Amino acid sequence: MLDLVIRGKKVVTPMGTGAFDVAIQGEKIVAVASAGTYDAGATHRLIDAGDRIVMPGGIDPHVHCLWHVPNPDGTAGFSDPPETVSRAALHGGTTTLIDFVRWTHGNTLPQAIARRDEDWVGKCFCDYSFHLMIEGQLPPELFGQIADAIRDGYPTIKIFTTDITPSRKGRMVDFGDIWEVFQVVAKEGGMCVMHGEDNDIVMHMYDKLIREGRTHFRYLPEVHNTLSEDLSFRRVIRLAESVPGKAAIYFMHVSAATGVEAIREARAKGSPVYGETLHQYMLFNADDYLRPNGQMYHTYPSLKSQADQQALWSGATDGSLQTVATDELCCSLATKVQGSRFDDTTGGNSGVEPRLAVMYTEMVGKRGWPLEKFVDLTSTNAARLMGLYPRKGALAPGSDADITVLDPALRRIVRNEFLHESDYSPWEGHEVHAWPVLTVARGKVVVEEGRFSAELSDGKYLKRTLDPALLAGAGLQPR
Ligand SMILES: [Zn+2]
Repeated sequence: MLDLVIRGKKVVTPMGTGAFDVAIQGEKIVAVASAGTYDAGATHRLIDAGDRIVMPGGIDPHVHCLWHVPNPDGTAGFSDPPETVSRAALHGGTTTLIDFVRWTHGNTLPQAIARRDEDWVGKCFCDYSFHLMIEGQLPPELFGQIADAIRDGYPTIKIFTTDITPSRKGRMVDFGDIWEVFQVVAKEGGMCVMHGEDNDIVMHMYDKLIREGRTHFRYLPEVHNTLSEDLSFRRVIRLAESVPGKAAIYFMHVSAATGVEAIREARAKGSPVYGETLHQYMLFNADDYLRPNGQMYHTYPSLKSQADQQALWSGATDGSLQTVATDELCCSLATKVQGSRFDDTTGGNSGVEPRLAVMYTEMVGKRGWPLEKFVDLTSTNAARLMGLYPRKGALAPGSDADITVLDPALRRIVRNEFLHESDYSPWEGHEVHAWPVLTVARGKVVVEEGRFSAELSDGKYLKRTLDPALLAGAGLQPR
């Protein structure tokens, strides 16, 4: 007797989209068969999704829960916890989150991981994993710890090439240390996930614009500019290509045409270079800084021009960019809009809940892309790149039963009062062409017609091993 069968006419599977029964036993998909294979007597429950879209649960490879963000009164504070973000994620059809461990000086990597586990274990409604963030001048003993961590299922290392703002000194790693890390990841089967900006250009522009009295956050695109992304991406790529076996790199939050082009060129040479952009970068541009509470649309590096925005879309079209993440940093509106200067505006965003609906609308609704391409960019590619495939990101036998049903009949205007994230949404008033009506996480129906039944003990940590073919630059073919 099966536990659950989800039947639909538009079921997105690795073999294509069609009419299938997805058969679930316990936490796993045990079969994907032609629709009608199983009758009601073969399963405890049969859900007929009809014309609605049945897809693997969304995967957001870039979120920050319980992350440092100042309170509106200037005291130290934190963004919302995994409980809030994972509840919103599941309501929005996303079933896996990847956040960060922040390693700081004086600790070992295992100590940093243990500290971060206290924030997460038993406190998240959905499955999750961590990138390991390292910073500053790296002590020699850290390189061996990175090798051990990769072998232990923590294969992605986050590195900043800039301090981002003048007040965050100590975040960036210099190129000598990055070179060492690249040699470790290339040897051990890891990958570096990069915040790529040219620190000299960024800090020069902060100084210059402060001298000129142009400190409003609308000038962020002049500071975190397209030249900075160009120089940084190319320097990082050259370094990664220079180490034996080539280091695999994944650029987070690609924001500019120059960044897309640098990745495209590296990929044309067969280098293992991948790119993520954000849904707010695809839908908002520098003009949005001029709207009321324009900080709502910001995350670092910065929104860029309409031409850059177009380049992100062409990058997603031709496969230069593989994933669309959120850079989620869930906080109140008062926290998000507290700064008005380009050096005190907070980063991160609220948007994990509407991400799938927004991207479905743009990709399938407006651009007519195949459903598979939308699913690749919001789920499958992240699973493949981050070492979760085919456990996650696929409706296939043996995969975890993480399943989202999107209803295209639910065209609606996004209203924050219907969301579960914060007291504001940058997506307020945005029209979407579908909305999730059912989310299944490892076989358990956790959201159904708005009813939420996940428990904090449901979310489990996902250890990961990266795919050697992708580390060798085999690429992900766009559909
Ligand atoms: Zn981030």
